Amino acid sequence: MLKQFTGALSQKEKSLKELYSLIVEQGPVSKSDLIKCTGMRQTTCSRLIDELLEMGLIVESGYGESSGGRKPVVYEIKEDANYVIGIDISRTYTKVLLMNLRFVVIDEAKLVMNETTTPTFTIDFISSSVHRMAEKFHLTQDNILGAGIGTIGPLDRENGIIVNPINFLSDGWMNLQITHLLAQKLQLNTLLDYGTNTALLAEYQQEPFKKYKNIVHVLKGAGTRTGMIMDGRLVRGTDKLGMLGQGHMVVDLHGRKCICGSNGCVHAYSSISAMKRDILNGIEQGAPSIIRDLKKDPNEIDFNDICQALNERDSLVTRVIKDAAYYTGVGLANLAHVLFPDVIILSGPTYTNMDLFYDVVTETAAGRCQNMYPDQEIIFTRGQLGENASAIGAGRMVLDHYLTDHTLI
Ligand SMILES: [Zn+2]
Repeated sequence: MLKQFTGALSQKEKSLKELYSLIVEQGPVSKSDLIKCTGMRQTTCSRLIDELLEMGLIVESGYGESSGGRKPVVYEIKEDANYVIGIDISRTYTKVLLMNLRFVVIDEAKLVMNETTTPTFTIDFISSSVHRMAEKFHLTQDNILGAGIGTIGPLDRENGIIVNPINFLSDGWMNLQITHLLAQKLQLNTLLDYGTNTALLAEYQQEPFKKYKNIVHVLKGAGTRTGMIMDGRLVRGTDKLGMLGQGHMVVDLHGRKCICGSNGCVHAYSSISAMKRDILNGIEQGAPSIIRDLKKDPNEIDFNDICQALNERDSLVTRVIKDAAYYTGVGLANLAHVLFPDVIILSGPTYTNMDLFYDVVTETAAGRCQNMYPDQEIIFTRGQLGENASAIGAGRMVLDHYLTDHTLI
């Protein structure tokens, strides 16, 4: 049982945990490679491997490359030895995933957030989803390692509290002891982090990103959230300000007023509400647009209407999106000038659902970076995991917890 890898450990348990962690990280891996990494004696390593096999935590998974003699047996984790729950709570939806230890999604549930999705309603939804999944797959509390939550800041991670998220449609989300309430309902250990961090943790496990050491993740929904991996490690605390974070980088000193009180922030040009306002201004000034056909009252247009008009090449909406993307790209280039990462991953509905927005942002940002550093390339790309990224990473956080020495909340 992986759960025995927490708390006070004997020397043998510490060695088992070290070996298991390496197999998680490097598997399928041979005994000789494990000996090289740990410096263990061959007999010790063999004994511990036998023990992990007996515990049902690892399996023999075939043969590796031979370095002269017989091909060596390789080991990897038993993916269904335990399961994890990953939860993403955002302003637009709540997602609950049941995953095995390779973070393959076994089952999922989604709740669209609106005026009625209070904390009590949302926690009941999560709890009933987890119980339904456990019943469907015949899992007990012993089978499930714990639940991870990725959500909107600002957070008090240490005490498991959502402090003051802006723009949740229902009341009650201020100073919410989310981990305590969920842990009580689920009877599982529960961990909390910023959704942009958990999404980045999940994306970092994907093949194209694994080899890089410095990655910035920008998650653009109602606000702009930023997470980063520097020198191979997640830098926690970069999204403390929640919606008042990187989106408030100034790109025009004399620009339009922003909700934060400053002038010319990226947010003032590129938030969905800013795009909507620009479209409505254009309509008021008499610009032709299919938006008039989509909604009787243009004031009621939403993100989906904007995407539809863009797909139908509406000239007003195309111009507004290009402008918003240009300012966003300038902000992104500024961020790159400070951090100079290997990769910038762009995710969230604005990047995922609007190709034109994504193209103009990346062309603008990449062009500016290339002018400054012609010999160095920063890769701009979309995430690989789509809207499941935050919840998958929240599950990853639970496994990581058992392999490191944090204290559970
Ligand atoms: Zn601002």
